[in-house]
Amino acid sequence: MSHRLIACENCDYLHVEEEIPTGSVAYCVRCGSPLYRAAQVRFDKPLALAVTAFLLFLIANSYPVLTFAMEGRVETNTLSSGVLTFWREGFLFLAIMVAVTSVLAPLVLILAHIYVLLPISLNRQVPGMQQVWRILAIIRPWSMLDVFLIGLLVALTKLTDFADVIAGPAFFAICCLIPTVLLMNITLDPRYVWRRLAPANLRYPTSEDIGNQQGSDQQDRALLTCHTCSMVVLGGGHENVRCPRCGAMVHHRKPRSLSRSWALLLAAVILYVPANVFPIMTVTYLGRAEADTILSGVSALVRAGEWPIAIVVFTASILVPIIKILLLGWVYIATALGLSGPLKERTLIYRITELIGRWSMVDVFMVSILAALVKLGNIATVQPGFGAVAFCGVVILTMLSAMAFDPRLIWDRAGMQTVKRPRLASVKTDHDRVENQGIPS
Ligand SMILES: [Zn+2]
Ligand SMILES: [Zn+2]
Repeated sequence: MSHRLIACENCDYLHVEEEIPTGSVAYCVRCGSPLYRAAQVRFDKPLALAVTAFLLFLIANSYPVLTFAMEGRVETNTLSSGVLTFWREGFLFLAIMVAVTSVLAPLVLILAHIYVLLPISLNRQVPGMQQVWRILAIIRPWSMLDVFLIGLLVALTKLTDFADVIAGPAFFAICCLIPTVLLMNITLDPRYVWRRLAPANLRYPTSEDIGNQQGSDQQDRALLTCHTCSMVVLGGGHENVRCPRCGAMVHHRKPRSLSRSWALLLAAVILYVPANVFPIMTVTYLGRAEADTILSGVSALVRAGEWPIAIVVFTASILVPIIKILLLGWVYIATALGLSGPLKERTLIYRITELIGRWSMVDVFMVSILAALVKLGNIATVQPGFGAVAFCGVVILTMLSAMAFDPRLIWDRAGMQTVKRPRLASVKTDHDRVENQGIPS
């Protein structure tokens, strides 16, 4: 056993990394967050999936997503039509956000995998592999094609009542692209990629490095965790050092984490009011213009009897933002006050808010699709409204707030960071659950 160390990124508890069966997941023994998921040590499978994803992405961007026919007139849209429409109508912020989340981030994500995995598979080195793999950590949360697909389904439901809508080749390409990217992520173990990218003479700190020094606070602070590649780094008493493996700056904790998270959350709360008061779009149908807010959009779906879609939109656009703001606010207050109590549950709440926030982009994508498709003058037109800008702002700000927060503070402030000897993670396989919490000799 290598006795290599791995720290939980949610509570900073130290574990000894061990080989676990393929497909199983190692969890933190203290807060229960997943530490790592073991995949096969092979790069050809994820590489093939990345190339497939790239081809699907090209199809998704070259052919129509939807074809909309009404009163003898036909309109089609591509993946980037919504971006162009927002741009032309003067909604710059929305154009940039939709471009990043539905086109740029997915493209960079796929290309970065090919750029790094192809040389690794061929046992070669090309310049900038580490930098490219580092960018992935920043890009990943902003790639939202899965949310875009839901927005597409909502738009489809709204249109089928008064026009003929046909799904184009790009629609099916997007449907295939999402599971392909998912499979690419599952078959790839990022730990092995980082080990391949590491400098040849890199030495990993092991449990022997801290073996005799337990109980000393200073020793605890000397161990830092790289937020980009998860390597445990010997800080040598410094608060900030460069990670010897990926080159990113490593901090003891994210700098000014609580104040930044608070500021971003408060900005989101303020924007939440115009996001619900102003219309997200104005629909002109047969000469009559009607403004739609988020809430009126949901009630229109209910009136039309589209219950499943109404529930999806209500959950994504109304429930999720409110719940996320309330839960994050609670986590920040409890952390600032250093409350003890259910720390494990508080960490879980934080992890959930980090996961669900992006799904609120559904309404923004829906407006971008409708505005790009429905452009028939007085017969039928959809124009974006200021409410969509404010709402997109709420989603982005709450996401940034959750990213700025350092969940390890939950445990710091409650006085839980005393040095303990690293333990083995608890490992869950697909069939059984093995509690493997022994202390290594
Ligand atoms: Zn943990
Ligand atoms: Zn690193």
